[in-house]
Amino acid sequence: MKKRIAILGSTGSIGTQTLDVIRQHSDLFTAEILTAHSNADLLIGQALEFLPNAVVVTDTDQYEKVKTALQKQDIKVYAGEDSLEQIVESDEIDMVVTAIVGFAGLRSTLNAIRHKKAIALANKETLVVAGDIIMKNAKENGVPVFPVDSEHSAIFQCMAGEYHNPVEKIILTGSGGPFRGKSREYLANVTKAEALKHPNWVMGNKITIDSATLMNKGLEVIEAKWLFDLRPEQIEVIIHPQSVIHSMVQFADSSIKAQLGLPDMRLPIAYALGYPYRLKTSFPRFDFTNGANFTFEQPDTKIFRNLALAYEALKQGGNMPCIINAANEIAVEAFLNDKIGFLKIAACIEQCMLTAAFIKKPTLDDYFQSDRETRIICKEIIKKQQ
Ligand code: NAD
Ligand code: MG
Repeated sequence: MKKRIAILGSTGSIGTQTLDVIRQHSDLFTAEILTAHSNADLLIGQALEFLPNAVVVTDTDQYEKVKTALQKQDIKVYAGEDSLEQIVESDEIDMVVTAIVGFAGLRSTLNAIRHKKAIALANKETLVVAGDIIMKNAKENGVPVFPVDSEHSAIFQCMAGEYHNPVEKIILTGSGGPFRGKSREYLANVTKAEALKHPNWVMGNKITIDSATLMNKGLEVIEAKWLFDLRPEQIEVIIHPQSVIHSMVQFADSSIKAQLGLPDMRLPIAYALGYPYRLKTSFPRFDFTNGANFTFEQPDTKIFRNLALAYEALKQGGNMPCIINAANEIAVEAFLNDKIGFLKIAACIEQCMLTAAFIKKPTLDDYFQSDRETRIICKEIIKKQQ
């Protein structure tokens, strides 16, 4: 029987690459649910190719367009945020790929877990915000959460077969982004176009900016805490500009395992979809005879403040990671809209951490409230700076 997949955010970078994996392995997988926010044209094209059971467009203005384009097909068309949350309850799916960006993916991810759908998790912000609730629900419902993020997939792959062996620490690698080695003076004047030019990966805009500020690595530290049940001091970050070693695990006997490969998100996506089997792929292979040179350096958290702020949020716990996530989403959006400079992103987040109400043991409702509150505070901070 083919594995029936729902892709939440099918029109994005991870979504389209997931469809590519499904296209290349149509004997193993079918895409049964596709969702998009506003890119109706791409969603329609995907639906006509993959003929899913249903599609959801969350931007209700796009409903008529999608409905009309698909009316000759046997495809259900829904619109709005509530539909996104409800569609994951469908009996037509076995696994949900969470490829929505940001807090917007939280409700649907949680509902999918509560309805016992296996999760392939790309939407790291959901774990940053509410990792305790997500993982608790996954455990209670016996739902596996397979990492899609390349670093976490690497760690997951390194842990295969190590069930009884405690992890001493994990080493998350990061490329360092386009501004590795630059000074604060330089960073004060970088443009959006420069920040969007990632050296090794082509990704959605938000995560590309997060990679340039190192917030992406900070979010990944928190993501790793929840996925692998680690303490903050067990999670190390090292800059590895070549992006070939995707992360490492160190065990009690001092042995370190690493997972390597050329940077291509279709590899961790295929591992999550096919687990426990490795799929045969035609992706380019890494060549050790090609003069390859692996280098490593410490991340500079004085210049790239966001990574230090994420560690701080993780140590404080409670809703602090939720606060940094919301502040970061607003600050990155403001940077992309030319409202604030690059260094102001971290400054906004730091101010939100000091201002937003801290809750030691938040409920799910608290996370929603804290997300709303922080967004308002961050927008005020940005307005004052203009
Ligand atoms: P993207 O911007 O390319 O795509 C986002 C998708 O989410 C789109 O399909 C969009 O329609 C949908 N979406 C956006 N806002 C929405 C909303 N409010 N409601 C419903 N749907 C919405 O993003 P991406 O780069 O594919 O990243 C997706 C997630 O995967 C992020 O959490 C990111 O951190 C994570 N991730 C991405 C990569 C990568 O290579 N792109 C790697 C690792 C992890
Ligand atoms: Mg990553």
